[in-house]
Amino acid sequence: MHEWALAEAVIATVIEESRKEGLEEITKIKIKIGELQQIETEIFEFALNELTKAQGTSLLTKMKVEMDTERAIFRCRVCGNEWGFDDVGLGEDENEAIHFAPEVAHAYIRCPSCKSPDFEVLQGRGVSIEYIKGRG
Ligand code: ZN
Repeated sequence: MHEWALAEAVIATVIEESRKEGLEEITKIKIKIGELQQIETEIFEFALNELTKAQGTSLLTKMKVEMDTERAIFRCRVCGNEWGFDDVGLGEDENEAIHFAPEVAHAYIRCPSCKSPDFEVLQGRGVSIEYIKGRG
């Protein structure tokens, strides 16, 4: 039900922002989904659709939703090196495991430069709204 909660948060944010901007009609929103975020995009899209309909407001009837994946980027705390999934050369299975449970990333990933397991995730987590377009 994680997708539904996210969809609710997105719709609430869109409505709030459009009020602030004085928009009468929202035409398009773009959502960025982190590569490490566990999300079923089909369920998420379905949830967004259903919640949009349930709002029963003309504000959202023309809204198109575009989704984009935000690449995961890691930074080594020891040497400052930054890298993404493409650079670590993990096997398919490990890649799947990390996508499925981001918290296990530390068990698999080492800094490709100095081999330290001490790194942070710079981006690629969570869901954010990149932009909201509409007419006032
Ligand atoms: Zn390093």
